[in-house]
Amino acid sequence: MNYVTNDTLNTYLRTLQPMYDGVLGEIQREAIAANVPIVPHETARLLSVLLELKKPRQILEIGTAVGFSAGLMSRYLQKGGSITTIDRFEVMLQDARKNIKRMGLENTIHILEGDAADILPTLEGPYDVIFLDAAKGQYGNFLPHLLRLLPVGGLLIVDDVLQGGSIAETRYSVPRRQRTIHKRMRQFLWDITHHPALETSIVPIGDGVALCYKKEEISNEVEGDIE
Ligand code: SAH
Repeated sequence: MNYVTNDTLNTYLRTLQPMYDGVLGEIQREAIAANVPIVPHETARLLSVLLELKKPRQILEIGTAVGFSAGLMSRYLQKGGSITTIDRFEVMLQDARKNIKRMGLENTIHILEGDAADILPTLEGPYDVIFLDAAKGQYGNFLPHLLRLLPVGGLLIVDDVLQGGSIAETRYSVPRRQRTIHKRMRQFLWDITHHPALETSIVPIGDGVALCYKKEEISNEVEGDIE
């Protein structure tokens, strides 16, 4: 896991902002101890604020892992709301299912197993919040689908967009094997920051979080442009 900010600041932010209570907190602590990928605590706290403001009815998540962020986001759903979460890694999903049960959220969090590249085209939405936290090289391919599934007034939250800060380095100073992903992520960031229908901010906490608010309908022409 990469972080944009320095260790001292990360430790301070993680100590200052209380861990989550209840079973969610247990799942968070277990995942940290076992080195299972979950959103860093400071990013989780940002999600909490955004979702408290938004109070979504339907959430889409790409990247379930063990269900921590899905459990967290479920706290801010409107009554009767639900979360659809996608992951392709069966080993992780076994733990996710157990954790969802522990949190008593079997009727709230629905897992779709498979590659998001195959599943996203089949979804109809709308989802008022979409949390993208999966294979970084694919973000650009997912974007047209995510924008289609997001209503006007919806919020797209994307984790891990700054690649430990290396996104700001030139292409030639990143190791050769990282150049493709570097190029793709830069393109993705350009697209979301220049999209006429989006109000976007890139927040350098954790490994960088992009916030994209959809402020107007997207014509097919524009959607075609960013593909
Ligand atoms: N959001 C989780 C952490 C997700 S870790 C949390 O904070 O609790 C990233 C997950 O994305 C991994 O479990 C991985 O299997 C999944 N993933 C990566 N690329 C994917 C893809 N193309 N389709 C579906 N799942 C994917």
